[in-house]
Amino acid sequence: MTAWYAGVDLGASNIKAVVGPESGSVVSRARRRTPRGPDGDAVAEAMVAATREALDDAGVAPGEIVRGSVASIGPLDKAAGELGRSANLGPNVDRVPLSAPLSELLDAEVSVLNDANAGVVGERFYADRTPDDMAYLTISSGIGAGVAVDGRVLSGWDGNAAEVGHNTVEIGGLTCGCGADGHWEAYCSGTNIPRHARHVHETEGVPTDLDLDEIDAKDVFEAADDPLAERVIERMQAYNAAGVADLVHAYAPLVVYVGGAVARNNPEQVVDPIRERLPELVMTNVPEVRLTSLGDEATVRGALAAAITAGRNDRSQLRP
Ligand SMILES: [Zn+2]
Repeated sequence: MTAWYAGVDLGASNIKAVVGPESGSVVSRARRRTPRGPDGDAVAEAMVAATREALDDAGVAPGEIVRGSVASIGPLDKAAGELGRSANLGPNVDRVPLSAPLSELLDAEVSVLNDANAGVVGERFYADRTPDDMAYLTISSGIGAGVAVDGRVLSGWDGNAAEVGHNTVEIGGLTCGCGADGHWEAYCSGTNIPRHARHVHETEGVPTDLDLDEIDAKDVFEAADDPLAERVIERMQAYNAAGVADLVHAYAPLVVYVGGAVARNNPEQVVDPIRERLPELVMTNVPEVRLTSLGDEATVRGALAAAITAGRNDRSQLRP
């Protein structure tokens, strides 16, 4: 009898669920828009519905699942298996139960980990190279990282290790979604790029044809010939390189995989410049910088990999 596993990605925009056997191949996948309210239970219900759909498509009964794993945006309360109040899910969602509702559906243990940690678990599981020291960086609605050091995926207090998107890149700079000033994410995440553009327009007086009240991150990247867009992209490249240099100095990875929609959709403007600038910023060994090998499924496949490896008694295991 095949041992089946389920992985779920709870993102700010989408919920994804996959089902697969111990090899990690994905036999079915389902997706929902992440509801923005009315409350956290609605988000949990959408997560359960996506998982049920993936099970149905795979022809797998819920009871055949050995273990599940949810990779979620933060902030997590790992002990409670819940997502706390997230700026990304709207004002009415103050907590989302993650492990309990899925555990009830699957009648199996369900572990919870942050989405960037899932990225590094996935890269370790699926990639052709799995060095003991590596990192996964996501540049998406937010910015975060998961790191493996000496063969162990670091979790940290409440799973919050390597929250590098909240590293300070400008003292007294733009206010981040978390409330603090000058964080990397405040300048370079998909959500904050439009605000960064308005800030540069106001403070540096760079002219533009962009409608600054209406733009999103995609507009900025697509208008690369516009003087303001050009300036914002140049600034982001400097911040991204500095952010990755900080990550390198903190964790000494051999490889940094970069994922997330902002990076995947604009690799020449986001990933290549990090690679090019790193040698002049890093005083230790300069790691290889690669685009993720898992596309837009890095998080959900990482969750599947976490479900599969959580029970393995080796040093690559993810501690639930
Ligand atoms: Zn922040």
